[in-house]
Amino acid sequence: MMADRIYIFDTTLRDGEQAPGYSMNIEEKVRLALQLEKLGVDIIEAGFAISSAGDAESVERIALAIKDAKVASLARALKKDIDAAYEAVKKAVAPRIHVFLATSDLHLEYKLKMTREKALERIEEAVRYAKSLLSDVEFSLEDATRTDRDYMCRVVETAIKRGATTINLPDTVGYSTPQEIYDMISYVKNSVPNIDKAIISMHNHNDLGLAVANTISGIEAGARQVECTLCGIGERAGNAAMEEVVMALRTRSDKYDYTTGINTTEIAKSARLLSSITGVKINPSKAIVGDNAFAHESGIHQHGMISNRKTYEIMTPESVGVVKTNLILGKHSGQHALEKKLEELGYNLSEAEIERIFVEFKKLCDRKKNISERDIVALVESTESESTQLWSLVSFVINSGNNMTSSAVITLKKGDKIYQDVSTGTGPIYASLRTIEKIIKHPFSLEEYNLEAVTEHRDALGEAIVKISDQRGVFRGRGVSTDVIEASILACLKAVNRMLDESSSSIAPGVTAQAMSFENDMLMGHTDKMEA
Ligand code: MN
Repeated sequence: MMADRIYIFDTTLRDGEQAPGYSMNIEEKVRLALQLEKLGVDIIEAGFAISSAGDAESVERIALAIKDAKVASLARALKKDIDAAYEAVKKAVAPRIHVFLATSDLHLEYKLKMTREKALERIEEAVRYAKSLLSDVEFSLEDATRTDRDYMCRVVETAIKRGATTINLPDTVGYSTPQEIYDMISYVKNSVPNIDKAIISMHNHNDLGLAVANTISGIEAGARQVECTLCGIGERAGNAAMEEVVMALRTRSDKYDYTTGINTTEIAKSARLLSSITGVKINPSKAIVGDNAFAHESGIHQHGMISNRKTYEIMTPESVGVVKTNLILGKHSGQHALEKKLEELGYNLSEAEIERIFVEFKKLCDRKKNISERDIVALVESTESESTQLWSLVSFVINSGNNMTSSAVITLKKGDKIYQDVSTGTGPIYASLRTIEKIIKHPFSLEEYNLEAVTEHRDALGEAIVKISDQRGVFRGRGVSTDVIEASILACLKAVNRMLDESSSSIAPGVTAQAMSFENDMLMGHTDKMEA
């Protein structure tokens, strides 16, 4: 018998992106979506179109860019949400509308202020309306795991009757155990008469660290779609980690007779791209994609590994795309060696981009003896092409000490003109940012500042990530240098250039922008009927 196919529904760009620190701008989301397509996910949930103009635009851009996966937008059970979702995904090769409404008594009573009967009517109407626009409709019963079982079955039957082809039963609050998930899915499978007309889906949160276990349990009970994210990012403690679910099924194929469409050798690269876009590091001991996931430090383990890798290795690093090479780059490496390294690291760069990185690489070689893979990744990410390089750094002089006010003299270039100014501040970084603000004559606030050594040695590269905001939104910049002040200035300029470039999108709305309140806006116009 053929192994059952499990559909991977990736929500890194929707649930994942909602997590603090993981916001991305439109261009970044499209880049990640293209990598998810290469990874082989079946469905990409690109966003929540109604939530902001930026979200709608990014869903639309992803819908146009993706050819080999379905593209979904989330929508509440409201006409305006479903319309926005439809508008955003309609040009996709395979569009999907993902409608949701909470069904637990707790959510119905306190959040939605709705009776079970009203909710059922609302679901019926919403699914029917979505189906009138598109054939591929998913319905999610938010907080399914705390929903009354018989009511759940009535909802599922109704949603399928109205055209839903995927039924998602989320553990929204991450409260369930694997056995409970198994029982829930089995119950629905055995009790809903038309259940064979839809695919059952899981969406498990990781509040108790059980998301992956619950997902596998759901699959065993009959779920055939799993909603997950790269590295398990998502609201609160996150979602089930895609790479863990996929590799558990694959590594334990002796026990699980399922296949996925995932090209597992793209996993490491996908996780690295997510981390480099967002600037959030992957936990070193993270399963599958952490730096230590395949490291064998202890003598006994190393001895075993040399005799037979299977002694301590249940899957190979190569199978998830971790390439191990000893090629160390340095002063004498030519552009070809760098090019080869970039290829190994999974970068697909143009000739011009490689040349630009090579120039930066040579500069770095003058300051650092051995260049590691991580140095190169940092270099690529910080030299990424900019549509308009408005402001660039010429030079800086910092005066700083423990008994004095720091000052920063900075010289910047814009076009052919040179600008110089000076500011003071409580520290050298603060003084530098104030000087930049003075030169560019555009006030901004510092939202976040992060400095980290990229590698372990004394001549390590410092990587600075700066997030600044003005009324247009929040903009991120990254800078890399062996000098931490220089890294910070470069990062700030990068963010400044994005902020001043009208065509570049922000990673989050500006301070003055009205944040959308999902809870209070749940029922449009306070009517009981969804407006037709
Ligand atoms: Mn969720």
